[in-house]
Amino acid sequence: MDSHAATTPLLNFIVDRVNIGIFVINKEMDIILWNHFMETYSGTSAEEALGQNLFKQFPELPSAWLKRKINSVFILKNFAFTSWEQRPYLFKFPHNRPVTGGVDSMRQNCTFLPVIDEKNNEEYVCVTLLDVTDTSIYQNRLEETKQQLAEASNRDGLTGIHNRRYLEDSILKEFARATRYKEALSFIILDIDHFKHVNDDLGHLAGDEVLRRVAEILSATVRDTDILARYGGEEFGIVCPSTRLEGAMMLAERVRTSIATTLILYDEKPVPITISLGVAQFNNDIDSYEKLINQADTALYQSKEKGRNCATYYIKDD
Ligand code: GH3
Ligand code: MG
Ligand code: MG
Repeated sequence: MDSHAATTPLLNFIVDRVNIGIFVINKEMDIILWNHFMETYSGTSAEEALGQNLFKQFPELPSAWLKRKINSVFILKNFAFTSWEQRPYLFKFPHNRPVTGGVDSMRQNCTFLPVIDEKNNEEYVCVTLLDVTDTSIYQNRLEETKQQLAEASNRDGLTGIHNRRYLEDSILKEFARATRYKEALSFIILDIDHFKHVNDDLGHLAGDEVLRRVAEILSATVRDTDILARYGGEEFGIVCPSTRLEGAMMLAERVRTSIATTLILYDEKPVPITISLGVAQFNNDIDSYEKLINQADTALYQSKEKGRNCATYYIKDD
C-alpha cells in the first residue's frame, strides 16, 4: 500500500477534528469540503453543504468582498490572510465566552490557500477560520484600560476636575491654534483668598472639602467650551478659546460672584469663600503659552494687592 493512501484517512480525520474551521471551494464557488468545526458553528452539516454554492448556501456572507478575495487567490495562486482587526469575522458564529468580554460573536482570522489537485489538475481554494475571540477580548480590555489610565492621568485626584498637566496640554494646543488662525484666546487664573485660614481654623479636611465645592461651583459656571483645571494647591485655571479680553473678564466676574454668593458648608457651618482672578488675552507680543500664563499670574497678583475678591486683566506696563 502506498503511504499516501495510508495517510489520507488520517489526514481526513485531523482536518475534520482540528479546532479550526476548514472548508474548500472550487472555481464555481461550490463547497467540496466542510469540516466538523464548520458544521458545529454554522449549524449546516457537511451533507447539506457539500456540492452547494457557498454564496447561495450562506447569503449573509460578504459576497462582493469574499468573491474578490477568493478569485485573487485563484488567479495569483498566492496565500492570503485577513485578521479580525481588519474584518471581525467571515461567518457570524456564536462564541462560548462570557458576554462581559464585550464581543458579540466569534472573532476570526482567515487564511485563503490555493490548492491544486495534481491528479485531475483541478484548482481549489481552502479557507481556514481561526477562533481568535480571546485575543480580541484581551485587546479590548487593554484598550479600555489604556483609555482609563490616560483619562485618570488628566484628572485631579481631590476634585475630579482636570489637572495641571491637562491644562498645560490644552493651553499649548489652543495657543497653537490661536497663533495659526489668528483667533482670540484668553486665560484666567484664580486663587482662593486667605485659604490658609480655612486650614488653620477648621482643619485640612475642611480645606479639602472647600476645594471640592469650589471646583463644583466653577464647573457649573464655566461654559462647555472653556477648559477648567486645578492648576495648583488652591489655584485654578480656565482656558477660554475664541474669547477676547472683554468676554474673559465677564466670565471672570461671573465666576467671582458665583463663588462669593454660593453658600459653602463644612460640618453644617458656612465657610465664607472669595477668590481673586487674573485675566490675560493672547496678543502679538506673546510668543509662548507660558507668557500667557505669566501675564494672567501678574494680573492675579494685582487683584490680591487691590484687596482680593476681584478680577484684574493684564496691562502691559511700558
Ligand atoms: P492669598 O489670599 O494670598 O492667596 O492667601 P492664601 O492663604 O490663600 O495663600 P497661601 O499661598 O499662603 O496658602 C495657600 C494654602 O493652600 C496653603 C496650603 O496649605 C493650602 N493648600 C494647598 N493645597 C491644598 C490641598 O490640597 N488641601 C488643603 N486642605 N489645603 C491646601
Ligand atoms: Mg495660592
Ligand atoms: Mg490663596
